[in-house]
Amino acid sequence: MTDRSYFEETYRKHAEYVNEPQARVLRFAGWDTVIERGEGSWLIAYDGTRYLDLQACYGAVTLGHSHPELVAALTGQAAKLGLRPHASFNRPLVDLAERLAQLTPGRLQFSFLCNSGTEAVEGALKVARAATGRPGFVSAVDSYHGKSLGALSVSGRAKYQAPFRPLLPGVRHVPWGDLESLRAAVGEDTAAVILEPIQGEGGVNLPPDGYLRGAQEIAHERGALFILDEVQTGFGRAGAPFAATLYGLEPDLMTVAKGLGGGLLAAGAFIGTPEVWKVFDENPWLHSSTFGGAPLACAVGLKVLEVSERERVWDRARDSGAYLLEQLRAIQVRFPDLVADVRGIGLLVAVEFPDDDRATLVISEMALRKTFLTYSLNQPKVIRISPPLTVTTAELDFALRAFEESLAAAEELLRTLA
Ligand code: PMP
Repeated sequence: MTDRSYFEETYRKHAEYVNEPQARVLRFAGWDTVIERGEGSWLIAYDGTRYLDLQACYGAVTLGHSHPELVAALTGQAAKLGLRPHASFNRPLVDLAERLAQLTPGRLQFSFLCNSGTEAVEGALKVARAATGRPGFVSAVDSYHGKSLGALSVSGRAKYQAPFRPLLPGVRHVPWGDLESLRAAVGEDTAAVILEPIQGEGGVNLPPDGYLRGAQEIAHERGALFILDEVQTGFGRAGAPFAATLYGLEPDLMTVAKGLGGGLLAAGAFIGTPEVWKVFDENPWLHSSTFGGAPLACAVGLKVLEVSERERVWDRARDSGAYLLEQLRAIQVRFPDLVADVRGIGLLVAVEFPDDDRATLVISEMALRKTFLTYSLNQPKVIRISPPLTVTTAELDFALRAFEESLAAAEELLRTLA
């Protein structure tokens, strides 16, 4: 179906049965199309138009869309067995848990497989409470850990929390990067400090030198656990298998999701040390999930790890990210009134604008130039660039050209309006 009526009908159904204001915003932002297929770094619309995917489903599509080996793993396993309850053994689950233990840092060993990032965070929070017998959590302002009630409680953005109060009691938010505030907030009642290694939705905020190790030390000095949320940074995005290794961290619990599903399905996990996992001694089913650890998701997760290792996608992310940053900084110099900052690590890169409106304008100009981008959920004046880690230099050059043209068009428009 390539007829325009296909889009109009999709729009109407979205407005009527999904979310009307969302439909309007998407259309306003230049997304008056329907994406039907994905191929590597590209999204293909119903009418055949190709868009370069610089967002990759919030960074989840690390190996490109519909990677043939992942599709084969998915369909092969689907034809054999999709689901299996936690009441019996499951080979893809144990194989994946073993590989996660080998790839993650420190003494992280045991995995609970679940279905999303927020669910991984919920599980980690619960286990931290049970392991310490303490109720409280300390997290950072502008952090993003998910939107289910527990994860939302530790997320640092009031806008998303306000309608749902009261949230979990005993949560303290401290300014990101400030160890003294963190030291003051962690007490005898703190079960865990939870941080992202790099704040993703907060606008790609890199940790100041020594911050994360300092936070881990403070947590441990006070008998609290250190939870590292690698939902966004895991599986190569930051230029290493996990960002923890970049900063020399050995968390007690780590949360992952996004890339684990290979861009094909929903998967997440929280991974803990043997000490933390003692919480399951008395009741091995203390935490459970019908779909978590399904053979289908685990077969895909295993293949993600195999392909990522074989192709060293974290090294590619590191090198492509360095190239992208360098080129973006060269463009920034030519548009000092529009681009306030360029920063990032690996293929988690941010372009900050002076305000939300200018960021939105550039996003819609980028859409006109066949590139797909969004802003950071907690920081709408920041556009986040997080393409598949397999993106080629030629594709990045396409994006950079589109970006430069979009800035020129936005500048022109703002001049006309002034
Ligand atoms: N933690 C972090 C660091 C994230 O970036 C996200 C999603 N952007 C989540 C948790 C929540 O993941 P999900 O959307 O899969 O629930």
